[in-house]
Amino acid sequence: MDSYINRKKTKKINVGNISIGGDSKIVLQSMTNIPTENIDENLLQIENLKKHGAELVRLAVRDETAIKPLSEIIKSSPLPLVADIHFDHRLAIAAINAGISKIRINPGNIGDEKRVREVVKAASEHSVPIRIGVNGGSINKKKYPHVTPESLVDSAMENILILEDNNFDNIVVSIKGSDIFTTIAANKLIASLRDYPIHIGLTEAGYGLSCIVQSSMVIGHLLMTGIGDTIRVSMTGDPVNEVVVGSKILESLDLKFSPIRIISCPTCGRTAADINLIELSQNVERELIQRFSEILIKKDKRIVVAVMGCEVNGPGEASEADFGLAGGQNGKMLLFANGERIKTILVKDAVKELIDAVSEKLPG
Ligand code: SF4
Repeated sequence: MDSYINRKKTKKINVGNISIGGDSKIVLQSMTNIPTENIDENLLQIENLKKHGAELVRLAVRDETAIKPLSEIIKSSPLPLVADIHFDHRLAIAAINAGISKIRINPGNIGDEKRVREVVKAASEHSVPIRIGVNGGSINKKKYPHVTPESLVDSAMENILILEDNNFDNIVVSIKGSDIFTTIAANKLIASLRDYPIHIGLTEAGYGLSCIVQSSMVIGHLLMTGIGDTIRVSMTGDPVNEVVVGSKILESLDLKFSPIRIISCPTCGRTAADINLIELSQNVERELIQRFSEILIKKDKRIVVAVMGCEVNGPGEASEADFGLAGGQNGKMLLFANGERIKTILVKDAVKELIDAVSEKLPG
């Protein structure tokens, strides 16, 4: 798949059976929102996240009671897991011994040097990478009274240097603010200082549309400038939504293969009165995914399908796409395939006619 993005070369880090950085594809990750003690619910959520495109999942490990269930989850998880740990170095070591694929802990918060060395020893012995994760809430407020790109990066560098002083470089770094500009600037700065893979996203990004827009701006901007090796959309609510949005961001930038792309017009006063374009577009997309997704993935082919509301601008767009429908007069539509207008059809038969055309002319 061609890409217009020139990715910054980073160090390749192995996380269980996947890798982050180097020439690896961008890894889509999320986090469960259920206490680790609920083993079955966590496994169900991980399975569901995987089904929607997640490749790596993080779990919060709050205290030692979480370790036993964590080891059960690790044994049955279909995806590599990351243990999110704060302050307690014993939890990090226990999670590593339980078979976790990666830990997120900031060595600056662990305490004395001896504890850091113990974590580094365990991580090195098990080839477990450590993610240093800095956000506005984790910087030292006495030292850095304000959250700025520089204060975030200084905090990250303090943590990186602790690990490097212990000869440990199996590192992923993330710097997230809740503000778009600060987060982008901080990530550009850290990318200029080290070649560790970068986990990108906007933290405390809220929910719904506002989260989607803001996260897409930060993640999209950074990816387009070549920065970012793994992404997480942080969204209040069901983490599956994070993965759905993250997948769309990657697909939009051709960083993830999507076999079917639907183009539909916004509709306007010219839209043919007997066409419900949103319903038609959704039906077309659903049927195409059901019938052709697997075949197209196997062939590594993508089809672009245009669903347009009128015969003024519709035909132009529909003939540019691989397949297309454009609204016409009196309950009729025009059907296009491979740039050619092939026939006039009834609106009520549009989905079936389009599916038949795709079946017949599917790229070989
Ligand atoms: Fe309006 Fe036609 Fe353009 Fe759709 S394609 S927005 S109906 S002019």
